[in-house]
Amino acid sequence: MQVYADNAATTKMSTTAINAMLPYFQDIYANPSSLHSAGQAAKEALENARETIARCIGCEPREIYFTSGGSEADNQAIVSAARIGERKGKKHIISTAFEHHAVLHTLKRLEKEGFEITLLDVSKNHNITADQVKDALREDTCLVTCMYANNEIGSVLPIAQIGAVCKEAGVPFHTDAVQAAGHLPIHVKEQNIDMLSLSAHKFHGPKGIGVLYCRRGLMLTNLIDGGAQERGKRAGTENIPAICGMAAALEDSCAHMQENSAKVAALRDKLIAGLSQIPHCALNGDPVNRLSGNVSFCFEGIEGESLLLLLDMKGVCASSGSACTSGSLDPSHVLLAIGRVHDVAHGSLRLSLSEYNTEEEIDHILAVVPQVVEYLRSISPVWRDLMNGKREFIL
Ligand SMILES: *Cc1c(COP(=O)(O)O)cnc(C)c1O
Repeated sequence: MQVYADNAATTKMSTTAINAMLPYFQDIYANPSSLHSAGQAAKEALENARETIARCIGCEPREIYFTSGGSEADNQAIVSAARIGERKGKKHIISTAFEHHAVLHTLKRLEKEGFEITLLDVSKNHNITADQVKDALREDTCLVTCMYANNEIGSVLPIAQIGAVCKEAGVPFHTDAVQAAGHLPIHVKEQNIDMLSLSAHKFHGPKGIGVLYCRRGLMLTNLIDGGAQERGKRAGTENIPAICGMAAALEDSCAHMQENSAKVAALRDKLIAGLSQIPHCALNGDPVNRLSGNVSFCFEGIEGESLLLLLDMKGVCASSGSACTSGSLDPSHVLLAIGRVHDVAHGSLRLSLSEYNTEEEIDHILAVVPQVVEYLRSISPVWRDLMNGKREFIL
C-alpha cells in the first residue's frame, strides 16, 4: 500500500482541473494580448477564470492578479504595503513567528532596509489572538500580515477578528491563505482582508500558478517589469492553461468544501486519537481551530528524518515539517515558535490528508507509525538515557 499523506506540501491534481486545462494547449493557445480573434478567445478564458476566482473569495475580478504561486503573491503583497508605508514615514510591520518562509524572508529583507518587524508570539494555544494584534499596533504600523492557516501544525487563525482590528486602525491586512483556499471559507470583504495570497497546487490545481488579491485602492509595486499584463502590475504572458486549471480546481473545492472537510476531519481525528496513544508524544498546533487535514506530532527520543525514511519504506509519504525546511539540519522554526525545545522539535511528524485519502489508509498509518517509533526508540541512545533516568522526559 502506498499512502500519500503530504498534502500540505502539494496535492494531486483533480481530473476536473486537468480537463479544464486541456483546451488551452493546442486549441485556444494564442496570446491573450493579441488583437486577433484567436487572442481574444484566450483573453476570454483568462477573464472567465478571473471572475470564477473572484466569486470564490468574494471580491471583484479586477482585484485579482495572477502570479507564479503563493511565494510570489506573498512577496508582492508585503513589498507593496511596505512601499506605501515608507512613503508616509511608516515602517513598522506586524506578523507572526510561524509564518511561511515566503513571508518571513521577505520581512527579513525589509528589516535590513530599516523596517521594524514585530513577530507575534504563538506559544499559547499554538495560535494568536486578535488582541495580540491590537496590542502590537503602532502609529507607524504599515502592514499586518498573518497567515490564515499554518502549513506545518494546522492552526487556523482568527482572520475575521484580525481583519476587524486592522480595519478599525486603518492598517492594511494581508493574509497568506495558501493552506486555507479551497479548504476553509474565504470572503475577503466580510473578513476585512485587504490582500490575500493563494496557490493552486494546494487545492488539486496545477503548480506554478497563484493569485494575489489586492483591494482596489491599494497600490501594488511590481516585482516583475515588462508588459502591461495584470493591469500593469505583473508582466509576462499569462499561463492560460494553469490559470484555467486553478479556477476550475478552486470552484470545485469550494463547491464540495463542507462534505470534503467533514470527511477529512473524521480521518484526521481518528489518526490523532490513535497516535496520541504512543507514549511521550505531543500534538502540535491548535487542537480546536485546526485544518481538517492536519496531523502534527512530536515524539520524544527519535529523529524525524529517520522516521520519515522508515515510513517511506512502509509505503507512507509524510513530512517532518514543511517541505521547504527538509534537507536542512535546523529544526522547524514553527515548532520552535510554539515552544518545542530543539531535541523534541527534531522528532516531528506531519501527516497532511486530503479527500483522496481513505479509512484503510488511515488504518495502515496507524499500524505502521507506532511500530516504527518503537523501533527507532529501541536503537536510540537518547531514549536509553531517558529510560535510565540519566535524562528527564520533556513530553
Ligand atoms: C505552499 C505554501 C506557500 C508557497 O506557495 P508556492 O505556490 O509553492 O510558492 C506559501 N505559504 C504557505 C502557507 C504554503 O503552504
